[in-house]
Amino acid sequence: MAVRDPTGFLRREYEQLVENELDWKLRVLDGPSLPRCVVDGRKVLMLCSNNYLSMSNHPKVKRAAIDAIKTHGAGSGSVRPIAGNMDLHVELERRLARFKDAEASLVYQTGFAANAGLIPQLADAGDLIVSDELNHGSIIDGVRLSKADRAVYKHCDAEDLKKVLEKAEEHSPAYRRVLIITDGVFSMDGDIAPLDGIAAQAHDHGAMVYVDDAHGEGVLGKGGRGIVSHFMLRREEVQVEMGTFSKAFGVVGGHVSGSRDLVNYALNKSRTWLLSGSHPPAVAAACIAAIDVLEKEPEHVRDLWVNTEYFRKGIRSMGFDTGKSQTPIVPVMIGESGAAKKFSSRLFELGIFALPIVFPMVARDKARIRTIMNSALTRKDLDEALAAFQKVGKELGLL
Ligand SMILES: *Cc1c(COP(=O)(O)O)cnc(C)c1O
Repeated sequence: MAVRDPTGFLRREYEQLVENELDWKLRVLDGPSLPRCVVDGRKVLMLCSNNYLSMSNHPKVKRAAIDAIKTHGAGSGSVRPIAGNMDLHVELERRLARFKDAEASLVYQTGFAANAGLIPQLADAGDLIVSDELNHGSIIDGVRLSKADRAVYKHCDAEDLKKVLEKAEEHSPAYRRVLIITDGVFSMDGDIAPLDGIAAQAHDHGAMVYVDDAHGEGVLGKGGRGIVSHFMLRREEVQVEMGTFSKAFGVVGGHVSGSRDLVNYALNKSRTWLLSGSHPPAVAAACIAAIDVLEKEPEHVRDLWVNTEYFRKGIRSMGFDTGKSQTPIVPVMIGESGAAKKFSSRLFELGIFALPIVFPMVARDKARIRTIMNSALTRKDLDEALAAFQKVGKELGLL
């Protein structure tokens, strides 16, 4: 039977989203992502970028990208396994492994590509994947590509994980492998996974640990080395440390660090890695420079934390709730979705750019303004932001 309007669903579904106010209204950043920037033609203070250390504008990082275009061109010409494996890609992996204190690292095009490409290769039919209930969408999609059984444990709850693992041991036939996956830092609340407890449970039950440290790198641990360093865990305890160059590193690209065996396996098995063009030289060179900056200029991570403490304390002392935040992700709890949206648009009018996070991303009554701190914000910037939160909080009767 002929379908009369085979694409009609596109508009119908979209209109439904608009009606429910669930559609994304894209704002345009005119110029660089800096604390003082221009969004939709308005000068604002940026409080919602993942560019924690303003690395995307660091002169050494920009210089490295420009130089690499001059020496290596604009593109790599191929996928890594054929003709697109440049010296810059190899050097980046060597530098990253050294930075992470790992035997080896592998760079993917994005963090999403790393999760989608690697997770289904680590666990398949006859295996079990155990996830924190609030894991990132790219982990969820990676898990969906696997034929393994799935289980979830309560958010950041190593005791509940233990129960899930004990129950899994009764499964017949016995699971071949068990893979535990967690975000390092959770991006909605800014809380930190109890990776020490998770690793201990994994050890007791012979499971592997996979941590996605997208929001922990450049933030947690010695010199921003991430969550494994933060908990001072050994490489054997957390076998797969995944991350991204798109957040604190300020560029783009995913990566995985661990044993040489892991990297050999991952590069031969991950289809997102094998079948997708490698990074342009400018990207690889900029990422190398970003690692270099992190190693040589510890002040950026320090400034990020000083700003975080100052802002969080200021927000809390007004009477706002910042939930479970332990990191530079500082959610300001508002309550209802409508109020959070109103709050955000009033902030924007006052020159503060911070987005509301509402249902279905968080529970209906847990809508919030999610702020993300930055090392390059000045005390004056933070005071201005705090004053705006106070003003809008009073206007809307929240304070
Ligand atoms: C941002 C993010 C990703 C995706 O990383 P990209 O490199 O931007 O694709 C994956 N996992 C988590 C937890 C993230 O926050």
